[in-house]
Amino acid sequence: MKPQETKSTVLLKHHLKALKLPTMHSECEKVAARCARENVDHLGFLLQLCELERIDREKRSADRRLKDAKFPNTKTLEGFDFTAQPSINKRLVTELMRGAYLDQRESVILIGNAGTGKTHLATALGVQACGQGRKVRFWQVTELITHLIEAREERQLLRLKNQLAKLDLLILDELGYVPASKLGAELLFDIISTAYERTSLIVTTNLPFENWTEVLGSERLTGATLDRLTHRCHILEASGESYRLKDAQRRQTQKPSQSRAKKSGASSLNPEA
Ligand code: ADP
Ligand code: MG
Repeated sequence: MKPQETKSTVLLKHHLKALKLPTMHSECEKVAARCARENVDHLGFLLQLCELERIDREKRSADRRLKDAKFPNTKTLEGFDFTAQPSINKRLVTELMRGAYLDQRESVILIGNAGTGKTHLATALGVQACGQGRKVRFWQVTELITHLIEAREERQLLRLKNQLAKLDLLILDELGYVPASKLGAELLFDIISTAYERTSLIVTTNLPFENWTEVLGSERLTGATLDRLTHRCHILEASGESYRLKDAQRRQTQKPSQSRAKKSGASSLNPEA
């Protein structure tokens, strides 16, 4: 390699770094060599480099969106067995996965007993929304309330609210497991009413609407919260049994037959071993 070329490569890399183009920085020599071999002209070379940078940039921001969403796990719809929970409206879930509800700032409420797949579905919808370029944040309701109260004490409430207002989708998981304090319920209501018609919400809950007063305390607040949440919202109801429970029962019923099989195999080993 001529000294002149080395100098310009070094300078070029310096500029690419300053311009924050990391993929062009790392790939320019490789692509240049390939383009020289394949007789690709200068504009063709630049095009290839720009395409690589854009693909990587999209991937980096998708990864960042997933990380920022703070999902408890990355459940997907492929992992959801609709036959195990036939009460869930599969057609509606498939429709929601397309993401049009986010453009319309509509919300989704998932209602059902523990273990019926509400968090799984809320996460799958959230992961999908991240893949569609949306800003998402997953919160367990109790955690969010604690965070709101702390932020208020530290005079950081406005900052937190501004962060939440930038989201396309706010997931509130497990409303109803623990009753909120008066202040907690008011702060939560504030978040829900700010989100109204601006940010889509997905709320999962084990409580039928008529019992929400138990969590939010006052009837006035419950009425106002429900009024906002249920306007322009899709309701998914899981009325089946707990998947966890069924899974555990299936394992239990498999055990005796397994040990019978061992016994009938005339093994001298202890079948419980
Ligand atoms: P919920 O939030 O309703 O209490 P989860 O979504 O946490 O229930 O589900 C409990 C566990 O069972 C999770 O590991 C979840 O992935 C799994 N699960 C629930 N329903 C299904 C289903 N229909 N298909 C596959 N896995 C399921
Ligand atoms: Mg849950």
